[in-house]
Amino acid sequence: MSFSDFNLPPEILRALSDRGHHDPTPIQQGAIPPGLEGRDIVATAETGSGKTCAFLAPMLDRLHRGHVSHLGGLVITPTRELAAQIGREFQLLARHLRLRAAVIVGGESERRQIDEIRKGAQVLIACPGRLIDYLDRHIVKLDRVEMVVIDEADRLLDMGFLPQLRRIMKMVPRKRQTMMFSATMASGPEMIAREFLHHPERVTIGARALPPATIRQAIYPVTMENKSKMLLEILKRPEIESAIVFTRTKSRADRVAKLLQRNDIRAVQIHGDRSQGQRNAALAGFRAHRYRVMVATDVAARGLDIPGVSHVINFDLPDDTDGYIHRIGRTARMGNSGEAISLVTPEERVTLARLERILGSELDREHVDGFEKVQIAPAKPVTLFRSAGARFRSARNRPRSRWA
Ligand code: AMP
Repeated sequence: MSFSDFNLPPEILRALSDRGHHDPTPIQQGAIPPGLEGRDIVATAETGSGKTCAFLAPMLDRLHRGHVSHLGGLVITPTRELAAQIGREFQLLARHLRLRAAVIVGGESERRQIDEIRKGAQVLIACPGRLIDYLDRHIVKLDRVEMVVIDEADRLLDMGFLPQLRRIMKMVPRKRQTMMFSATMASGPEMIAREFLHHPERVTIGARALPPATIRQAIYPVTMENKSKMLLEILKRPEIESAIVFTRTKSRADRVAKLLQRNDIRAVQIHGDRSQGQRNAALAGFRAHRYRVMVATDVAARGLDIPGVSHVINFDLPDDTDGYIHRIGRTARMGNSGEAISLVTPEERVTLARLERILGSELDREHVDGFEKVQIAPAKPVTLFRSAGARFRSARNRPRSRWA
């Protein structure tokens, strides 16, 4: 299948081909046709699956065909980085169209954003907080919006944006097209879908967003005291060309970045306490390979598209499996291979056990020469009740239930 099989205007097809995209990815194959028909869509997709284009193509098509000159499209997304990324993708896809977007995020100059709105943007790409602020101050009006995209719905909920989302959705016309994207379809995103979408078409790429098979995943058992030393040792490997190191907290990100810098590794950190300017500079530097390592908290984990990340290193395991999947999805983008390394202490045993249970397999254990061998017991099933005749099956061999 190629993009030309879709009924897209030649200007969008040309922009896709300029960008080097010829064949639609599975999420694009699933979401673009019903999107072009004007249907509501709920889509679950793996990280890096090409979902941005899956919603921008129908949105641009609709606004272009309708000769819309007012504000007709709204994309709501949880983080500034995602908003900026969608803004970049918009510029590329809309380059042959007379459509403009304004990116509305906190932490940046209001003046430029307001100028962009006043110049006449047809699309707003916005984080909820700043958008509500502009709505309250009557800087923007959403009463002519025809199409809304709720991006990363699960993340919006995790970040506590449901009240803001509800307020925003009250300001858009009831008669509209709505597309919702979420990495997982747990009860929260389901609730959003029920509340804001109308008989949506469901597009699911894989039952759950499991990591792409092209990522080699390994666990490095280590004691807490040896984590820093082991990280330095691992980073001596020449094959680690470009790595994101994830830590659990902002202060740990700062500490690890300083440790690497002291050891002559070109490293930069990105987390919520850094200014927007610092975050932009860090990302730009990492993208341009001026830094070999970017140390990040989970703000950088979702959706960021940085080509050529060869390794993701979890200095700390994230608390939940979705977080793990999102983090490691920063490598092996669009079919390239990549490696995910997780330093795991015996204290993180329970988190690891849950992770392996959901992934459905035990991850490889690796050892680094010169470090003591640390044992981390494999996942054990939690037996709440076992009847006399019940046959014992390990958690790993047990067939996954439909609801696993
Ligand atoms: P996304 O999931 O939207 O963050 O997209 C991940 C990356 O895939 C971005 O760099 C897109 O430019 C790229 N991409 C999206 N669609 C395609 C396609 N059909 N073919 C090749 N690359 C694509």
